[in-house]
Amino acid sequence: MTALINRIIDYSAVNGPGIRTVLVFQGCNFRCRYCHVPDTFGNCNGCGICAYHCPAKALKLEVPGLAPQWIEENCIDCGACVNACRKDSSPKIKRMSIKDVLDHIMEHRRHIRGITCSGGECTLHAEFMTELFPVIRQQKLNCLIETNGSLNFEKHSGLLDCCDGVMLDIKAADPVRHLELTGRGNEEVLQSAVFLAKRGKLLEVRTVVTRADYGERDTVEKTAALLRPYLAKNRITYRLIPFRVFGVRREYRSLGTPGQTKLEELRSLALAEGFVKVLIS
Ligand code: SF4
Ligand code: SF4
Repeated sequence: MTALINRIIDYSAVNGPGIRTVLVFQGCNFRCRYCHVPDTFGNCNGCGICAYHCPAKALKLEVPGLAPQWIEENCIDCGACVNACRKDSSPKIKRMSIKDVLDHIMEHRRHIRGITCSGGECTLHAEFMTELFPVIRQQKLNCLIETNGSLNFEKHSGLLDCCDGVMLDIKAADPVRHLELTGRGNEEVLQSAVFLAKRGKLLEVRTVVTRADYGERDTVEKTAALLRPYLAKNRITYRLIPFRVFGVRREYRSLGTPGQTKLEELRSLALAEGFVKVLIS
């Protein structure tokens, strides 16, 4: 079995507890305005535009209609290819097998606590992760998922059995605002939150906070109400993520970084609503 991997971040301190290797899967079923990795959205159609923009001879057009060959040793990581791509993709995506991923992770094995599958939306690759996680756990590493919550986890209990925890985005509790922010409703997201909490797999819920008003107070209150029976018992963390402009598509950069006052008010609200641990980061 294989999956398309946009990139692997060998060492991250912000994708779950401890130092972790992060697999950034290609493909997403949401189109979040504040996404900082929009090159994970789409599929390459082999148009070759990126190769003409590469200043380092790191992309070679070989077969028309297929992605250019990426010559990694020439790449200076300038980002020109991703900026030029009109399909929200990247020529640096790799198709990797379970063995390819394991071999890569083993190079860093001694320095990490586990892996985190992210994206894009990694649960579009649920079968791949269900095969991957037992292999990784044999190496005494734990396996976490970062997700937009769109997967029906109830139908993927095999994945949950071999997963050590899930960090779930609740972009907005109000379905209309959620649609506005992501291009999709939130019914399945809220169902996932409750299901994962019941199964004891929900580690963290996350909301991106911008300067604009996307009903964040309402989101905190409704999320707390939904998860209240599990908050203290499972010590579910609420993470408020300040909007950062880096990587965001030009048309949405004006959403703006929120002020500290707004963040602190949301933190106080989440604590008052019953979350034991609330982080801003
Ligand atoms: S990031 Fe893209 S455009 Fe820049 S050198 Fe690497 S392949 Fe070429
Ligand atoms: S990555 Fe984008 S620009 Fe490059 S060939 Fe694929 S679709 Fe075209």
